Amino acid sequence: MSKIRLCKKCGFILGTRPGLKEQDGVCQACINEDNKKNIDFKSRQTWLTQYIKDNKTNPTYDCIIAVSGGKDSTAIVYRLMKNHGVKNPLLVTVCDEFTSTQAGLHNRKNLGDTFGVDHIIFRCNPHDFKKHTKEDFENELHPLKWIERRLYEIPYEIAKAYNIKLVFFGENSAYEYGTSDQLDVFHSTLCDDDTKVIYFGAIYPYGNFDSLEIAKKCGFRDLNYYNEWQRNGISSFDSYTQIDSIGYLAHHWCKFVKFGFQRVTDMACRFVREGHLTREQALALIDENDWRLDGATKRDFCRTIEISEEYFDEVVEKHANKNLVYKDINGNWKRYKCK
Ligand SMILES: [Zn+2]
Repeated sequence: MSKIRLCKKCGFILGTRPGLKEQDGVCQACINEDNKKNIDFKSRQTWLTQYIKDNKTNPTYDCIIAVSGGKDSTAIVYRLMKNHGVKNPLLVTVCDEFTSTQAGLHNRKNLGDTFGVDHIIFRCNPHDFKKHTKEDFENELHPLKWIERRLYEIPYEIAKAYNIKLVFFGENSAYEYGTSDQLDVFHSTLCDDDTKVIYFGAIYPYGNFDSLEIAKKCGFRDLNYYNEWQRNGISSFDSYTQIDSIGYLAHHWCKFVKFGFQRVTDMACRFVREGHLTREQALALIDENDWRLDGATKRDFCRTIEISEEYFDEVVEKHANKNLVYKDINGNWKRYKCK
């Protein structure tokens, strides 16, 4: 039944993530991590300082920074202001409709409090959010397809409206997750002569603990600070990523039944690449935790898009890839073991 293959270096499942490249049993994300040592980040940083200076088109704002309030966006604001001469960025956050955590609300507010900057909090039409999220969940088991696109488009549209040329985002996820072998500085489609979207993760090599350390110094708080939510499956090793809203994680869990991996795999394999875990430790964490769907997440997701938890299960059943996952005696979806 099971034909599951795992990356020889990090343990990530091969052949299921759409677009993931591989070579000789090694995933492209691992190859990319090694290739980072051939990228001259120092000269990219020097280039950026001058580029920002040369491309100030708005008399008030130097640039837009797309932020969630998470550790990465906090570290980006800090670095742009400290190292690259940015004095007055305009921050833009695009919200979702799920229940916010206390930590998430604190961190978002903290950006303005710490850095003393303007911040646009953009709420998409909640009717549109619910409609698209429900449809994409039902049709593709890809619930946040719509809002994830809007997360990129809205800061870009605001840049146009304010005549601001530069927009910063965090990591270049195509490179970090191995669907591209190029660590591009500019976004491939959201760029024209008037507006440039830049991945900050292509200027500084991305590291989980590196940005966490900076963010904590700037007042960032994780879930443990308020002791508000012990997330089933993740809390043991991650209380500081994707912590802003409760229902959001259902989106990641959907990948588990479709592709055989979700958040724990992504994080644990990244920790292997960054040298914080061995492949064996990662596989143990994945086996123990990646199948779990947090109860509060499921409730919040269903409540927000106005469906019952029974209906949620029906939709999942319809889309589950039964070559990768099976339902155990307790009704939980589990991944087949790798032979
Ligand atoms: Zn790998």
